[in-house]
Amino acid sequence: MPDRREELEKAGRREIEKLQLDRLRSSLGRAARSPFYRELFASNSFRPGDLVSLSDLGRLPFTVKQDLRDSYPDRMLACPPREVVRMHSSSGTTGTATVVYHTAGDIDRWTGLVVRCLVMAGATADDVFQNMMGYGFFTGGLGLHYGAERLGMMVIPAGGGNTHRQIELFRDFGTTVIHVTPSYALHVSDVFREMGLGPEDFKIKKIIFGAEPYSEGTRSKLEEAYRAQAFNCYGLSEMNGPGVAFECRRSEGMHVWEDSYIVEIIDPASGEALPAGETGEVVFTTLTREAMPLIRYRTRDLAKIYPETACPCGRNFTRISRITGRSDDMLIVKGINLFPSQIEHVLMKTPGVGTNYLIVLDRFENLDRLTVRVEIAPGAFHGDAEEMRRLQALIKHSLREEIMVQAEVELLEPGALPPSQGKAKRVLDKRDV
Ligand code: AMP
Ligand code: ZN
Repeated sequence: MPDRREELEKAGRREIEKLQLDRLRSSLGRAARSPFYRELFASNSFRPGDLVSLSDLGRLPFTVKQDLRDSYPDRMLACPPREVVRMHSSSGTTGTATVVYHTAGDIDRWTGLVVRCLVMAGATADDVFQNMMGYGFFTGGLGLHYGAERLGMMVIPAGGGNTHRQIELFRDFGTTVIHVTPSYALHVSDVFREMGLGPEDFKIKKIIFGAEPYSEGTRSKLEEAYRAQAFNCYGLSEMNGPGVAFECRRSEGMHVWEDSYIVEIIDPASGEALPAGETGEVVFTTLTREAMPLIRYRTRDLAKIYPETACPCGRNFTRISRITGRSDDMLIVKGINLFPSQIEHVLMKTPGVGTNYLIVLDRFENLDRLTVRVEIAPGAFHGDAEEMRRLQALIKHSLREEIMVQAEVELLEPGALPPSQGKAKRVLDKRDV
């Protein structure tokens, strides 16, 4: 499928919806080639050919993250394995990992969407692009990398971390566009200020922020610190990764690439569709993916759709607001997704640990810090400090294995934490982004 970027940018609603219907038909047909969707369609007496209008999509049940876990490793694969050229995996742990497959065509189309985003931000082949997101399974690295290269920018595949080196790269190569998480951007700006540097020492003009939620306040602070315009970039690995929705220069909501995805907003409790303007859970259906189509995938991210589709920028693609929260308890720490239940799992299998614990999140030097405060079991302390240090080290190590994030561990005496009264409060998030 060629990337008809120029034409699509100006497409009207009718044209977009017609394209969606055509593509949805073939996407459902392709999905039916995977064992997962074949069974799901059969149990709902649904045949892809039955689809008459876009609203018929509502007859199909949602797909949730657990379905991806249960389908591990390949029950959602909808093409012959030899056509797969890449896989990405979620930042989950063994046993609960989710996998997304891509054909060469999938990578090509994803790259095309990222190019559109970059063009929307006003980037050109004259720019120098420093990609400060992690490479590897995480889609933020490779996703933007391919798009930036196709646009013809010079790409600096810096990855995350190594702050002094990042700043050196800004200066030595005249970086003009950066792709970074807002929390890391804050840290980097603190460091360059400590080094006696300011935005006048760099050529950065545009910042692409993604991978985690942040506020308008943080955005303004960062635009000032870098003297650059910020663009919000949203995506998730289940929908390829970054580049599902992106802000235009009007900075009011992100355009969803509706020739590639159908977006719905639902009430997370009832699953009913919500009208434009109301905040609910974002649900996506892929329209062009070959290796692994996903139908009505519940993202758990909360946002609203802007009622008016025509944007002064000239595009008619629906806009969604920034992500305002989650309908589950997933936490994003240093860009890694994790669930409190994973921490609980580690604590509860460790002998000597009590039942009460608290997960504290804050920021130290603008970087996320995760502290697990946990009571030891009554009778577990025998007056031996060395034994306690070993327990602490063991918990730290097991947590690192399970959640892939370094955590501080504080051991407390039994009864030190407030006892739960009803629904236990397990997470104290003091980060203010
Ligand atoms: P992953 O699949 O590991 O890339 O994580 C995707 C999740 O990251 C999304 O479901 C969101 O919760 C979060 N995320 C990605 N981009 C943004 C963004 N621009 N604003 C807020 N949250 C984001
Ligand atoms: Zn616009």
